[in-house]
Amino acid sequence: MSTEINLDELYNNSIKILSDLIGFKTISGEDNSNLINYCENYLHNFGATSFKTFDDEKKRVNLFATIKAKKSNGIKPIILSGHTDTVPVSKSWSTDPFKATIKEEKLYGRGSCDMKGFIACTLAFAPIYSKTDLNRDIHFSFTFDEETACIGAPILIKELKKRNINEGICIVGEPTKMKIIDAHKGCYEYTTYFEGLAGHSSMPHKGVSAVEFATKYSNKLIELREELKKRSPKDSIFDPPFSTLQVGGIFGGIAHNVIADKCHVEWETRPVIKEDGIFLNQEIDKYANEVLLPEMRKVFTNSRITKKIIGEVAGFNRVLNSEACEFVSSLTGDNSREVVSFGTEAGLFQEIGISTVVCGPGSIEQAHKVDEFIELSELKKCIKFLDGIREKSSIN
Ligand SMILES: [Zn+2]
Repeated sequence: MSTEINLDELYNNSIKILSDLIGFKTISGEDNSNLINYCENYLHNFGATSFKTFDDEKKRVNLFATIKAKKSNGIKPIILSGHTDTVPVSKSWSTDPFKATIKEEKLYGRGSCDMKGFIACTLAFAPIYSKTDLNRDIHFSFTFDEETACIGAPILIKELKKRNINEGICIVGEPTKMKIIDAHKGCYEYTTYFEGLAGHSSMPHKGVSAVEFATKYSNKLIELREELKKRSPKDSIFDPPFSTLQVGGIFGGIAHNVIADKCHVEWETRPVIKEDGIFLNQEIDKYANEVLLPEMRKVFTNSRITKKIIGEVAGFNRVLNSEACEFVSSLTGDNSREVVSFGTEAGLFQEIGISTVVCGPGSIEQAHKVDEFIELSELKKCIKFLDGIREKSSIN
């Protein structure tokens, strides 16, 4: 193919697009449709087809767009995957977090590294991919609410399964400084609500203290944490090697002398294997339903314990000879493999049979922080990487 590729121009475009993307305030849980419409219109201009999936209220949107292969001869597609949401901002920013600001070879703005930088680079490349005689489909997957326990991606994944898009290579462009991450633990978050019966503290037998039952529940979780340690797989690649658990908060009660009728416990676990998550849930549910609840209902029959799943981010498992990792290594020349302690959408793609790798521009060091930035050199690296994908995906 004879099209001239001007990487400098692509890099400049990526900065322009990134500035636009930062301008869309897409904090997790909020409406991200303006950003998604921007991406969709942009991709349509270069011949992409697309579909969208939504949350129940239709205000948060996932986009999946495709630039089709000219002739695939069975070569499997590539998915370039990013989340469009960002974490919230605090008042202490030294620049406007929703306005891209370049200073000393760094581009500042909320989401600059986590992970609008990657999305911007992929969009900058769309015109090139569309001019290339592709030997495989190239997909763009942009999700909502990754930062709040991957709420958006499962909705998209369900649709991918329906459409039989369940093979190929997925590159999740979370900030890794373009290093290959091939595993992370799962991250499951729960809130458990206790509803008892209010009363005067001088008559404890006439009330059901939600606070006290929530405390017993928390203690049981802490006991189970020790069980998780014992279950640590021998060949674990993680640090610490076992599944962790923590109680992040207990909220309830109104006064010293009032029996609290409401309390809730926020807790999370990071399973190294899926079975640990199943084990933990079975044990704690059993304890709640067979020990605590009967005790509560002895006094007040309408007592309740409800466990709400905030999110269950699937773990991302190391696969020997991973097609995705080898593909990325062949582009970056870097054969190292690392594990990380943060969660991503990678495990969800892996679960439906897509070979997946986490690799993207920017550093996780700057993610979620005040004055988040991405080094411009990282965007350049990413542009070069995407050009490598073009080379490996063109017929000639
Ligand atoms: Zn992220």
